[in-house]
Amino acid sequence: MAAKEEIPKLQWAQVFDKCGEPLQYKQISVPIPESDEVLVKIKYSGVCHTDLHAWKGDWPLGVKTPLVGGHEGALCPGQRADEQLCAKQALSGYTVNGSFQQYAIANAMHVARIPPECKDLAAVAPILCAGLTVYKALKQSRVIPGQTVAITGAGGGLGSLACQYAKAMGLEVLAIDTSEEKRDLCINKLGATSFIDFATTKDIVADVKAATGGLGPHAVIVVAASEKPFAQAAEYVRPHGTVVCVGLPHGARASADVFTMVTKMINICGSYVGNRAETQEALDFFKKGKIGAPIQIRSLQDLPLVYKEIEEMKIAGRVVLEVPE
Ligand code: NAD
Ligand code: ZN
Repeated sequence: MAAKEEIPKLQWAQVFDKCGEPLQYKQISVPIPESDEVLVKIKYSGVCHTDLHAWKGDWPLGVKTPLVGGHEGALCPGQRADEQLCAKQALSGYTVNGSFQQYAIANAMHVARIPPECKDLAAVAPILCAGLTVYKALKQSRVIPGQTVAITGAGGGLGSLACQYAKAMGLEVLAIDTSEEKRDLCINKLGATSFIDFATTKDIVADVKAATGGLGPHAVIVVAASEKPFAQAAEYVRPHGTVVCVGLPHGARASADVFTMVTKMINICGSYVGNRAETQEALDFFKKGKIGAPIQIRSLQDLPLVYKEIEEMKIAGRVVLEVPE
């Protein structure tokens, strides 16, 4: 589509000069790719909580500044890429500029092809980070079809996809998050069997056990961006169960009572995105129509408001920004 397009010198982008400083929607130069890179035109970019962590400077890992954030970009090859098919790439938006701009640079070796069957670029954008990450985490949990997995943070971006990948793998899903909107999303659109509101429950451990026949879920995928659920998961997971830590809240520790951990023989592990083979596996689920988590499409200009809503836990599912032509 973009093959014969003139590439402009300037483009619109969301930029911040230092962590925590205001986001500026402004024109910046279109980058020039090196010989092993491609220039890609971005159509849509998902907004991941990681982008918010990067802007706030939450992690003990330096952020390049000034920075164009974003790493869930659905891209089309630009003129210099000389590619036939649409492609997409999870750009870091952390140490290099990401997908909250019209044209981005990607390493030619790392551009993941979107299968031609995936026509809806907005819907496919969240798969390469959120979808891939939760697919990998579910694999790491070593659950098998018929078993129960609890997803904490189930109504958010990663969580909504985790519910759907889990269902597609034949698992029973217990969703944990807050608000009626997220309850409705998890139960009626994402196929969860039950929902527990962490903000209103008096005893989350008792409620999770009660919802799983008294024993607790076989695995817990913690995608919440807050610390508390990591410790709670170790308490309610079933003996021999696995807690997979995925969320990356600022300064958090995953703690567990040693006596509980030892006597229940539980596993607590971390899971970080996934490799290129797993990217294709995650995309395969999408290609077969098994993943259809609802997305909210907004405009690139709305990023500051989207960050505010993510921070306030108001967004059910994933926001995908439409990047201007
Ligand atoms: P999100 O804001 O869309 O979703 C987080 C959800 O957690 C929200 O729905 C929120 O209501 C819920 N939540 C908050 N506190 C909770 C609690 N106490 N119990 C249960 N739910 C709670 O965020 P996202 O984009 O899905 O990202 C989630 C986290 O995963 C972020 O920290 C992000 O940086 C991290 N992440 C990790 C990887 C990885 O490879 N490990 C990849 C991508 C994102
Ligand atoms: Zn992400």
